[in-house]
Parts: sequence; structure tokens; C-alpha cells
Amino acid sequence: MDDILIVGSGLAGYSLSREIRAIDAEIPLHMITTDRGDFYSKPMLSNGLQKNKTAECFRCRDG
Ligand SMILES: Cc1cc2nc3c(=O)[nH]c(=O)nc-3n(C[C@H](O)[C@H](O)[C@H](O)COP(=O)(O)OP(=O)(O)OC[C@H]3O[C@@H](n4cnc5c(N)ncnc54)[C@H](O)[C@@H]3O)c2cc1C
Repeated sequence: MDDILIVGSGLAGYSLSREIRAIDAEIPLHMITTDRGDFYSKPMLSNGLQKNKTAECFRCRDG
């Protein structure tokens, strides 16, 4: 099978990559994004900003 290119490292991008990896651990996966590629939960942003937390507090995984 050809390489797979995922555009965007948001929830959709990371969910898709996780599902592909679950069925094929070897296929080359590439992800391009306009941000840093870090994985974080956007729903946590609203609560965190109210508590004056920084973006670094929300990062679950580096890009
Ligand atoms: C403050 C906040 C709170 C939220 N709370 C909830 C909630 O409680 N419940 C809920 O269900 N949903 C919530 N959402 C919505 C939820 O976060 C989004 O539905 C979800 O993040 C969408 O995921 P996505 O991967 O489609 O898009 P995004 O997370 O927006 O990711 C898009 C990705 O594409 C990349 N990209 C964009 N343009 C390009 C380009 N031209 N080339 C390459 N890469 C590109 C971006 O850099 C990014 O990595 C909330 C959103 C926000 C902002």
C-alpha cells in the first residue's frame, strides 16, 4: 500500500493516525500541519484560560 498523508494534527488527524496504526503498524504515515503538531484537548482551553493557564499546560503530547 502507498504512504498515507494526513493533513492537520487536530483531533481528526490524530484519531485517524491512531486507527490506521491499529490495523497496520508498518505503513508509512506522514502528517503535515500549520501548527506545532502538539496534541491537546481543545475543550480544556475554555476552563484553562479562565484560570490563566498557559498553552504549555494543555499539551498532552509533543508534535
Ligand atoms: C475552546 C474550544 C472548546 C471546545 N469544546 C468542545 C467540546 O466540549 N466538545 C466537543 O465535541 N467539541 C469541542 N470543541 C470542538 C473540537 O475541539 C473540534 O470539533 C475538534 O478539535 C475538531 O478537530 P479537527 O481535527 O477537525 O480540527 P482542528 O482541531 O481544528 O485541527 C485542524 C488541524 O489542521 C491544521 N491545518 C489547518 N489548515 C491547514 C493547512 N492548510 N495545511 C496543513 N494543516 C492545516 C491545523 O494546524 C490543525 O492542526 C471545542 C473547540 C474549542 C476551540
